[in-house]
Amino acid sequence: MTAEVHKSADTETPGLPVVVGGRLRSTHPATGAVVGEFPVADDADVRAAVRRAGEAARWWAGLGFGGRAERLGRWRAALARRMPELARVVHDEGGKPVADAVIEITAAIDHVAWAARHARRVLGPRRVGGNILLPDQGALVTYQPFGVVGVIGPWNYPVFTPMGSIAYALAAGNAVVFKPSEYTPAVGQWLVDSFAEVVGDEPVFQVVHGLGDTGAALCAAGVDKLAFTGSTGTGKKVMAACSETLTPVLVECGGKDAMIVAADADLDDAADAACWAGMSNAGQTCIGIERVYVHEAVADAFVDKLVAKAKALRVGSDDGADIGPITMPGQLGVIRRHIADALERGGTAVLGGNDAVDPPYVHPTILLDVPEDSAAVREETFGPTLTVTRVPDLDEAVRRANATPYGLGSAVFSRRSGMDVATRLRSGMTSINGGMSFVGLPALPFGGVGDSGFGRIHGADGLREFARPKAIARRRFRTPMPIMSFRRGPRTDALIPKLVRLLHGRG
Ligand code: NDP
Repeated sequence: MTAEVHKSADTETPGLPVVVGGRLRSTHPATGAVVGEFPVADDADVRAAVRRAGEAARWWAGLGFGGRAERLGRWRAALARRMPELARVVHDEGGKPVADAVIEITAAIDHVAWAARHARRVLGPRRVGGNILLPDQGALVTYQPFGVVGVIGPWNYPVFTPMGSIAYALAAGNAVVFKPSEYTPAVGQWLVDSFAEVVGDEPVFQVVHGLGDTGAALCAAGVDKLAFTGSTGTGKKVMAACSETLTPVLVECGGKDAMIVAADADLDDAADAACWAGMSNAGQTCIGIERVYVHEAVADAFVDKLVAKAKALRVGSDDGADIGPITMPGQLGVIRRHIADALERGGTAVLGGNDAVDPPYVHPTILLDVPEDSAAVREETFGPTLTVTRVPDLDEAVRRANATPYGLGSAVFSRRSGMDVATRLRSGMTSINGGMSFVGLPALPFGGVGDSGFGRIHGADGLREFARPKAIARRRFRTPMPIMSFRRGPRTDALIPKLVRLLHGRG
């Protein structure tokens, strides 16, 4: 997603970040009210932050799993106690309804808890199987932190999304330097300040503010791993920058998630999930449903239910609204283009349509039978819009759902075929009879395939993502027949082929 920024105060588009006198000013996307101003970090500032983090990382790693879990527990408790305050900052800066911000923060707190509680079990030293040819050797795997992890985050879930990297990187023993989106610096600052209040000894978790340049500087500042979440285009730039220093990267990018509704689906549940997963957070959700493929036998009934639910949603920026403003003003043009293109090319709007774009809001829009090669089906829309397409059978639904370069999340509604369809969907995550439910289960790995990126946050895989496996072979006794030594004699040489034949020669 290409961000636009005004570098002086000569414009007052609500929500558009403005850099004034070296400070990034963030504003509410509907009212333009100023939320805060933050110093922009240049290359030298970013390098200094990474240097400080390197020293803090040694202290943090030295605390061990127990010491870190105790401190992360303090942070988890502070986040839980101060959730209303943080939810208000999220609302003020990104525009999302406070109730949605509370759900986002709740999920983020779950991840802090899960990562802290499970780090020792997942990353602690463990014995693995030995080898009969080397009976004297014991095999151990340990996991060591990288050191400093750079985290670059997006604006759409400014707490939950970066937390998937931050909490797991910290629990694994790394220090973190976080570059929040220029649209949500106040949230990033709040997170770092709240951590420093409970862990004030060393700068284990720091923030650097700025535009894309600051993110680019972080890639080049000597971090030991870079965890990026954002658009596919920027993800490629981050990979290219990190390739210069062979810095490992985790890349979580966009999606064009599909939901399949089978003929035997519970249509009320399916419509409810499509509405929630497609329209909550004004559709600005990486794992949001943007396309629905529904069996023709139940298509009319499903669409009626979906339209009734989406029609009832109220758009606004007051506390009772269901759908807030579009956070990034530039995205309004993308959403407008997708709707217009879909309609020009034969699609029908059964709800919303061209008039739905009413800056800074977009009203719920449901488009039927849009050609598969149109922008609304191919590209990430990031608005409260859904395309709904009838299909003759589940095979066709799977084929169309998979016909995209993205592969982040997906969903299927069916009483009998859920598991079968889930395993055939080309995506990193699938909900069966739910919309985006996988995201509420901290033990499940989160990430995509194809243009949606690679690597995993959350769960045990998310912890391992932020640690290097270290293999240790430990000699337990002195063997009379060493294989890996010049002490090996003719008896050992004769024995090896016999042993190999015994072990592997059958079948
Ligand atoms: P962007 O790609 O525009 O920006 C993401 C982050 O990268 C921002 O902090 C941005 O800074 C920074 N950045 C920009 N240019 C560079 C650069 N050259 N080098 C390093 N960093 C840079 O994405 P958005 O913020 O618009 O986020 C929306 C996108 O994120 C959507 O595509 C969405 O699907 C995806 N997303 C993916 C998720 C996942 O887990 N897979 C979760 C949530 C969102 P700045 O804002 O200052 O430009």
